[in-house]
Amino acid sequence: MALIGIVALNSWNARSTKLQETGIVTGNMARALAQHTEGAIESVDNILVGLVDTLEQNSWNTAHLAHLNHFMRQHVSERPLLHGLFVYDEKGRWIVNSQEVLLKNMNNADRDYFIFHRNHADRGPYIGPPIRSRSTGEWIITVSRRLEHPDHSFAGVVLATINMGYFRSFYDSFDIGKAGAIVMTSTSGTMLVRRPFDEAIIGKDVSKGPVFQHYLSHGPSGTVMLTAKVDNVERLYSYRSLDHYPILMAVALSKKEVLAGWRNETLRFTLASTVAIALLALLGWHLTRQIGIRERAQSDLRTTRDDLEKINSELAALALQDGLTGLANRRRFDAALDQEYARAMRNGTALALIMLDVDLFKEYNDTYGHPQGDECLRNISRVLKAASTRPGDLVARYGGEEFAILLPGTDIAGATAVAERARLAIQAMNLAHSESQNGIVSISAGVTAIIPVRNGHSAPDLLRRADQALYKAKEHGRNRVCSADQAEPEAW
Ligand code: GH3
Ligand code: MG
Ligand code: MG
Repeated sequence: MALIGIVALNSWNARSTKLQETGIVTGNMARALAQHTEGAIESVDNILVGLVDTLEQNSWNTAHLAHLNHFMRQHVSERPLLHGLFVYDEKGRWIVNSQEVLLKNMNNADRDYFIFHRNHADRGPYIGPPIRSRSTGEWIITVSRRLEHPDHSFAGVVLATINMGYFRSFYDSFDIGKAGAIVMTSTSGTMLVRRPFDEAIIGKDVSKGPVFQHYLSHGPSGTVMLTAKVDNVERLYSYRSLDHYPILMAVALSKKEVLAGWRNETLRFTLASTVAIALLALLGWHLTRQIGIRERAQSDLRTTRDDLEKINSELAALALQDGLTGLANRRRFDAALDQEYARAMRNGTALALIMLDVDLFKEYNDTYGHPQGDECLRNISRVLKAASTRPGDLVARYGGEEFAILLPGTDIAGATAVAERARLAIQAMNLAHSESQNGIVSISAGVTAIIPVRNGHSAPDLLRRADQALYKAKEHGRNRVCSADQAEPEAW
């Protein structure tokens, strides 16, 4: 969006600058054209001033007129701009002119300039509407001055005709494009010369046109963008009135042509920007998609990892747990025994072990069936678990209907108390066992405890001693707790 904004702003600025610069160019052109016209007309008017002077000071005798004819012809031949010089008397009759042979019986009293000077006492130059020359048929512009008798009454007219072709060829030499225009009008709004040339409009009143209206309301010079009524083309106009003659010069360039270069460049630039933006968008879209894919893959991986970790911990727990009772299994017990034995040796603390065996369990199975036997083992497990209350205590199923309770930091007295509590708790369950001596399920337990010394005893020794104590308990009639020191006191 920012890129599009920059491109748009840049293009708009370039357009404004182009129009501004063109306004300066047309303004300068209008000034130069006005200067040129001023000079051209002045050079002709100066001759008229001279003629007025000599005609008013001298009598119009044949010699004087012959001299003037020579003088006029010389001027006309020297100036391509000058078409002809003419003198008419108060009745419009031809007195003298720049032609070789003066045609008699000609009268110009009907001409616009003649009527003007006859009716106006104004002694300044008069620029009339363009006409076709009565002598040559060419388009001409007339500049004329009034002749007076000594009593200031109307004595006739001196007239200079200017070749319109002089201005037209000059205007044609400018590069103003196909739709550009250069216009010379009188300050009263009469069309004098125009490029492109159009006979239909020459001499017409253009004072109602937009450019002329702008001139009337805004002063002697200006630059303005207007749409011409004639051809509906929008143009940038610069106009300027002459300093000493009632003439207005205007130059116009077509807005479309002025902006053609800018338009092409903007089009190319926009096209290139569009391609660049499209590529960027494509790249961005691809990148975003890639990031999305990676994020999804990573999240899948995380989920898989979490699942695996969960399964692993479950597997780890299962690997250390007895399936039937949920107690620690033999593997976990062995590891714990080694670990606690080493810890006790390090810390110099006691470690006790109770081995328990269900009494006459073969008979129980035989009487009540194997599934009932399993149920009985589960009940015993629950009770054993409840009997050892310290957090560090470990109750394990050692194998078959044999259990082991590992009691870190416990001496023989404490361990015997735990074993006795367990035995009583199982007895209190009052599970029927018709083949046993009391008629209920009971256990025998062997207890041992040790403060391990380095290079003294080992963990298997502890097991062996607890087992021997258990054997003693069986031997002494079952449903009882025996401790190892009772069984083999000299060894401990
Ligand atoms: P004693 O009082 O001398 O210990 O007599 P006992 O019958 O318990 O003898 P012993 O300990 O040798 O018998 C173990 C019996 O326990 C053998 C087997 O039928 C039974 N048993 C071992 N494991 C399981 C088990 O997981 N489930 C069931 N239901 N019975 C088991
Ligand atoms: Mg047994
Ligand atoms: Mg048994």
